[in-house]
Parts: sequence; C-alpha cells; structure tokens
Amino acid sequence: MARNLRGEKDSIVNLILLGPPCSGKGTQAKFIETAYNLKQVSTGELFRNAVNEKTELGDKVKKYLTNGNLVPDDLTLNIVLESMRQVKNSSKGFIFDGFPRTLPQAQGLQDKGVEIELVVNFIIDVSQVLERLSSRRICSVCKKEYNIKFSPPKIVDVCDKCQGKLTTRKDDTPIIIKKRMEDYTLVTQKLITYYRNQKILYDIDAGLPIEEVRLEIKNI
Ligand code: AMP
Repeated sequence: MARNLRGEKDSIVNLILLGPPCSGKGTQAKFIETAYNLKQVSTGELFRNAVNEKTELGDKVKKYLTNGNLVPDDLTLNIVLESMRQVKNSSKGFIFDGFPRTLPQAQGLQDKGVEIELVVNFIIDVSQVLERLSSRRICSVCKKEYNIKFSPPKIVDVCDKCQGKLTTRKDDTPIIIKKRMEDYTLVTQKLITYYRNQKILYDIDAGLPIEEVRLEIKNI
C-alpha cells in the first residue's frame, strides 16, 4: 500500500519502469495499465504532446527534446504531479515510464509523498537498443508505436488503428540517440543503485521477445 497525493494511505500501487530508450518500457506499460488498472505516466509522451499542441510547456521543452537533452527537473516533476492529479480515483496507482531519470526527480517524488512499491529494471544490450531504435516507427496521427522488424503494421507504413501514416520519431536520429544513451548511462543509471538500496528493484531481461518480458513482469 502506498500513499496518494493527499498523503492518505490508499490501496494504490506505484511502479517505475527503468531502462534505456527503446527497451520496451512503453509497450509493457500499456500491458500493465490494462491488466492491473494502473495509469501510465510517460513523461516523453506528455512532453511530445505538449510540443505538438504548442502549449506554453511545449514551447519551453521543445529545444530539449529536439536535441535529445533532459528537460529540467522542476518542469518534469511538475508535469508528472499535474498528470497524477488529473487522473480520477478509478486508477489503482501509477506506472512511471521514463520517469524519474535523475536522482533529484526521484527525490522530488519521494518528497511529495509518492511511495514506490516496485521498480522494474529493463536490462538490454546497447547494440540491441540501436537496432530497435532504427526500426521504430510512430503513427503521425494517433502516436501508436510500431517496430517494423518485430511488431510491424499489417500494411507497410500505415497505422493498424487509425490508418495514419507512420513516421520516425524526430529524436530517433543517430546523433540524438547517442546523446540519449549517454544521459542514460551517466545520469539515469544512478537510479539503479538508489532503488536497489531500497530493495524494491527487480531486474528483467528486456532483450527477450515482448511476450516473454510480459510474463517476467507478471511473475514479479
Ligand atoms: P522518451 O520518450 O522517454 O524517450 O523521452 C523523450 C524525450 O523527452 C527525452 O529525450 C527528454 O528530452 C524528454 N524526457 C522524457 N522524460 C524525461 C525525464 N524524466 N526527465 C527529463 N527529460 C525527459
């Protein structure tokens, strides 16, 4: 049992999916969301939506996303807390996907009284990440993600869900990918020790096929 944002003990479960870009966190988050009635909070998705919708936040964060840099911690923490507040009581907790990425973000969450029950650490080879990134596509309309090698759409370059055209993410270019991987290695990986010390971190082999990773998470 964790505490909700009002600090009350509640039957909610919060978990974090930790791992490098394209390690499958988003795909598994969607599965956990449906199976356990938890709400996915993907900071990457929240930021991309803000940029696309040209909101004030979008204007502030655009340059970081374009260059593959981390958005400042205060902006990131605020958008996460705001998105948690907007969720109705129907959710039994939150799946943080791509958040936290820095120690101050993790500490900020803790300071706000958000307790974490479980951190799933997605372990995957850099070479496999690079291969996956090069074949990742996203629907230009509904933003559903595909991998043209491992989970292709039924019709080439057409979204199964809304028939929108598939494109590559603007930050999936070799130079930006290199920057995002460096940030993961130098900054985000420190969270592994942080959460391992709290004895809530579980390692999974994220290089396995989607279904097998799903089963590993289910077992945890
Ligand atoms: P993602 O979709 O998780 O790969 O995130 C895309 C981009 O959004 C990252 O390259 C960062 O610019 C930004 N971003 C996402 N999550 C965070 C975070 N927790 N802290 C800082 N920047 C983030």
